[in-house]
Amino acid sequence: MEKREALYAGKAKSVYVTDDPDRLILHFRDDTSAFDGQKKEALARKGMVNNKFNAFIMGKLEEAGIPTHFDGLLSDTECMVKKLDMIPVECVVRNVAAGSLCRRLGVEEGRELTPPTFELFLKNDEQHDPMINESLAETFGWATPEQLAEMKALTFKVNVVLKQLFKDGDMLLVDYKLEFGVFHGQIVLGDEFSPDGCRLWDANTREKMDKDRFRQGLGGVIEAYEEVGRRIGVAFD
Ligand code: ADP
Ligand code: UDP
Repeated sequence: MEKREALYAGKAKSVYVTDDPDRLILHFRDDTSAFDGQKKEALARKGMVNNKFNAFIMGKLEEAGIPTHFDGLLSDTECMVKKLDMIPVECVVRNVAAGSLCRRLGVEEGRELTPPTFELFLKNDEQHDPMINESLAETFGWATPEQLAEMKALTFKVNVVLKQLFKDGDMLLVDYKLEFGVFHGQIVLGDEFSPDGCRLWDANTREKMDKDRFRQGLGGVIEAYEEVGRRIGVAFD
């Protein structure tokens, strides 16, 4: 497989085309951003940590029967993926109230959500990723009702698998964001699953072990990501 030109440089990853039109290379950079890119910093080792963390999680999801774009690790900071036609909709499941849900509804952080909630956001930085719903997604052609139903079912299936995985590591999976795309007609999980795109709390102390450490300037960001990985069995070296 030959790495060719850069297709896109996002806020945290760069995407390269390859000599196979169906495959891309994702390069996980150390760049970290929050608040629509207003807060930015390069955190040493983050690219490597998130690349290996994501590979581990994608493997667990594949084992559970969830179709993912992940094909394999290429280096400490790169992996090979299927090239998806990305659906510009972010799927968020919440098990515990935090973040924008608390700001929007005035709900207290830490309240258990039963049953877990499901939300859709439009992936659009200029509009600050506004919350949308299935009707808007259908009308504006971001996704069909069938695609939305499949994305929702898969996002909840991920919850069953990962809630237990993190529970076994004495952590609480508070919430997470997933992105999907289409590969030869099938809805497939794309992008990444790492502590950059979810909230994880220590089950006993409720200490934050995810990107909220960066958002809130708590320090020890990558050390926390590594601790999460260590607890669930990710090998970083
Ligand atoms: P952002 O675009 O939000 O700044 P990243 O820095 O993570 O995010 O950039 C990665 C980009 O690659 C995202 O736009 C994501 O939707 C896209 N992407 C992720 N996986 C795939 C895939 N398998 N096929 C095509 N595009 C993908
Ligand atoms: N999230 C993400 N990318 C986004 C928006 C949200 O990865 O563009 C993740 C975020 O890390 C959290 C979950 O989705 O785990 C829910 O985020 P929320 O809506 O609470 O927004 P935030 O507080 O992060 O602005």
